[in-house]
This record gives sequence, structure tokens and C-alpha cells, in this order.
Amino acid sequence: MPHCSALFIDGGWRAPSSREAITVRSPATEQVIGHAPCAGEADVDAAVAAARRALTTSGWRHWTPQRRAEALDRLADALEARAHSVAAMVTNENGMPISMSTVLEGFVPTGVLRYYAGLIRSTELEERRPAVARGGATVVRREPAGVVAAIVPWNAPSLLTSFKLAPALAAGCTLVLKPSPETALDSGLLAEAVLEAGLPAGVVNIVPGGRETGEYLVSHPGVDKVAFTGSSQAGRRIGEVCGRLLRPVSLELGGKSAAIVLEDADLQATAQGLASASLTHSGQYCYLSTRVLAPRSRYREVLDAVTDMAASLVIGDPLDPGTQVGPLISRQHRRRVESVIAAGVDAGATVTTGGRRPKGLDQGWFLSPTVLGGVDNTAPVAREEIFGPVLVVIPYTDVDEAVTIANDSEYGLAGTVWTADVDRGLDLARRVETGTFGVNSYLPDLGAPFGGVKSSGLGRELGPEGLAAYFRLKSVYLPA
Ligand code: NAD
Repeated sequence: MPHCSALFIDGGWRAPSSREAITVRSPATEQVIGHAPCAGEADVDAAVAAARRALTTSGWRHWTPQRRAEALDRLADALEARAHSVAAMVTNENGMPISMSTVLEGFVPTGVLRYYAGLIRSTELEERRPAVARGGATVVRREPAGVVAAIVPWNAPSLLTSFKLAPALAAGCTLVLKPSPETALDSGLLAEAVLEAGLPAGVVNIVPGGRETGEYLVSHPGVDKVAFTGSSQAGRRIGEVCGRLLRPVSLELGGKSAAIVLEDADLQATAQGLASASLTHSGQYCYLSTRVLAPRSRYREVLDAVTDMAASLVIGDPLDPGTQVGPLISRQHRRRVESVIAAGVDAGATVTTGGRRPKGLDQGWFLSPTVLGGVDNTAPVAREEIFGPVLVVIPYTDVDEAVTIANDSEYGLAGTVWTADVDRGLDLARRVETGTFGVNSYLPDLGAPFGGVKSSGLGRELGPEGLAAYFRLKSVYLPA
């Protein structure tokens, strides 16, 4: 059983300031799988101080991009060697099926590191521009933002850490990472990889903890930038704090995206596509298309196809490579999802599959994939982010109404369209108020910006835009 009694600060393992410990349980077995120290204020102080020292004394911020890129590549190699261990650990922590965690939590983070290593090699950090309304020239410099506080949720801890770690380090920033208590263990493998890659002490520091630890870190005077992924509720609170401190912040928050099924769609292929675009990781992904919009002319057919797909998914032990649906993160979260389903039914929705705990899985916080028909977009079940395996199927009359319904949401993170005509899909994508969108599938690309509009957040990760977020710009005006 992993039991880490120390925190990774300043390039080594350091005893925590308090005896408070985090207990991590497998959501599939309900058994304790390990413990981690809960970082207190003194630990966060030490981590931020180490990150600040590393910025200057190690010279990290002044290393050539080539040298930093080599360090990122070494970190990618060290993480790749641990990819299967990271995947198994994350699956044990949060119940993500192993077939998915092997790719997303194990190997994709190494790809993110290599992508940003390549990008920083080719990014101009200093650019000379001819002056526009005067003689001379201006040197525009991209300088590292400084010490970054990175706060990540439990649903994809290693992946979402890499979205922050890789561009931050590439830009010359140093990092204090706060993992969630539910997934406080896997970052121990990242610490090992940081040591093996020979990164200077203090460039990466890890302080697991809950909301209090996060709040203390966000408002710490030694932090220059905050990068947050999590709920819109916490994001709003963090945005308020950063607004008061005039501290740059990126917020990747919740979603309630629409899957618009056009009348020309192949329904078998659509339903198969929705298995991953709408129900991946038991619905515990921010970008899932959980509102399925169906043309009235084919409403029954769409409802049946989605119902059959959801009922066919293999639910069970997330460590089994054949499992498609694992458990929810906690007993309390499953109770909440069940109460949202019950409220939907009270409001007139019909459960066409699921809605209950699967037979034969008495241990673990499992819930069968659930489809609700007869739902109106004004119902709470169609408006709130449920973060569980629950799809609602909403009828629309014409494409204009489908776009209106898709946009009638507090959120704007993702969305999909399902059609036989890709150009028509692209045309529709242009009309949806969202940060990302998929035609006939949904798979974010490392080279393109990812993020949301409205209550889904501020700023972007991935792509060159994700690197730009870790620079601050300086213009130096040269005389004529
Ligand atoms: P959460 O907001 O409860 O917690 C996220 C992280 O923030 C945790 O590490 C938590 O300890 C910390 N935290 C909570 N309140 C804080 C505060 N006031 N100050 C500082 N830190 C604080 O979210 P969660 O339940 O862990 O994750 C699920 C949510 O994350 C969902 O809403 C989901 O949509 C969202 N999410 C968004 C994206 C995205 O890229 N947009 C990706 C994954 C998850």
C-alpha cells in the first residue's frame, strides 16, 4: 500500500508540518489504498519559497530554451518509464477504466511534455519589431510569469497536471502543484520522475491537500500566476481572489455540453461515438456532451439508439481491460447523482435505462449508465452539471432551435454534432457558443487551444496559446 509520509519540496522529501493525513480509498472496492500527508500553511510557505528560489538561484528562468527543452524531454522519458504505474495508480484512486487511464493518464502526459519541449525550441523569446509611429524599433520580450500555483481535480489528475506543468516549465516558470485529496498518491510518481530527470531543486513542488490548502496557495504573496481546473463554483471563488490580488489566472471549469444529432446522422455510428463523447469515465469528464438533442422526426429512434448503447456498456472492475464504465468517485457523489436523477423523474422525465446501482456490484460506488427521455431544456437535469453517467435526450424542431437549445446553457466548454455531412457539421459548429466542438467525435488536440466560455472558464490550455499563458510580455523601446 503506498504510504508517503513526506512532501516533495525543494528537490527532496520533506516531513510535513502537521500530522494530518489524507486517506485515499478505491471507489471500486471502498478499501483504503494509501495515505499521503495533507500540506498545511507552513508546507505551502516552504514550497512557494523553494519555487521562488529555483526561479532565480538555479537560473531556471534564464536557461536557454534548448536546455529547458532537454530537461522536459528527460522528464517525459522518466514519466514514460512509469506510465503503466501512473495509470494503475490513477485507476485505483478514481476508478477510471484502465484502458482509458493507460492512454490519458499514463502516456498522453509524456506527449504533452514533448510537445511543449518542441514548441519552446521554436518560440522566439525576443522579437525586434520596427516601430510604427516613431523611428527606431521595439524589442518585445516573452519572460516567464514566475511562480505558478497549479490546482487540479481528481477526475484526470496526471493529464490535467501535464496541461499546466509542461507549458509552465517550458516558459521558464517554476511550479507548486496541489493535487486533490481523492488522488493524492499518483503525484508521488511525478516527483520520482522529476528527480530522475535531474530538474533543479524547487522547480516542481507538490503539496496535496483539500480546499483550505488550495485557498492558502492561491492567495499566497509568493505566487505570480494561478492555473486552476475544477468546478465552476470553486473557479468563481478563485477568480474573485485573483481579481482582488490582480493575479493572472486561468480557469478550466465545468460543462453541460450538447450533442446535436442531425436528421441525416447514421444512428448506430452516432450512438457508438456518444459512448465516449458523452459517457466516458462514468460521465466524470468536463467536456462530455451530456445533453443529446434529437430531431423530433427521429426522436424515438435516437432515444432507442442511445438507450441501447448505454445499456450495452460493460460496467465493473476498472482494473479489468474490458471494463468501459467504472464507479463514481465517492459514496456521497453517487448519492448526489441519484438524487438528481430522482428529481428529473419527479419533473416528468422517463428513465429508459439505468437509474440504479448495477446488480452484482455490491462493493464500490457504481451506478448504471442512465438515459432520461422526455426532458425539456429548462429542467434542472438538463441545466446542471451532473458529473455522472446520465444523459438527457431533448427534442428539437429544426436546426435553428437545436442551436438555440445548445446555447441556452450557463456553460460553454464543448459540444458535438453528428451528421453525414462534415461541412454541415462545421457550419453548425460556427454557431455554437463554446470553446471547443467536435464533428462526429470529440477528441481534444494537444496543438489546439482547449478551454471554455461563460461559466466554463477563462483562458486556454494546450497549443501555443497554452504556452503564451505562462509568459509576461515586456516591450523595450529602442531609440531611432
Ligand atoms: P473542485 O472544484 O471541488 O476541486 C478541484 C480542485 O480545487 C481540488 O484540488 C480542490 O481541492 C481544489 N479547491 C476546491 N475549492 C478551492 C478553493 N476555493 N480554492 C483553491 N482550491 C480549491 O472540483 P472536483 O470535484 O475536484 O472536479 C470536478 C469538477 O472539475 C467538475 O466541475 C468538472 O467539470 C471540472 N473539470 C473541468 C475541466 C476543464 O478542463 N474544464 C477538466 C476536468 C474537470
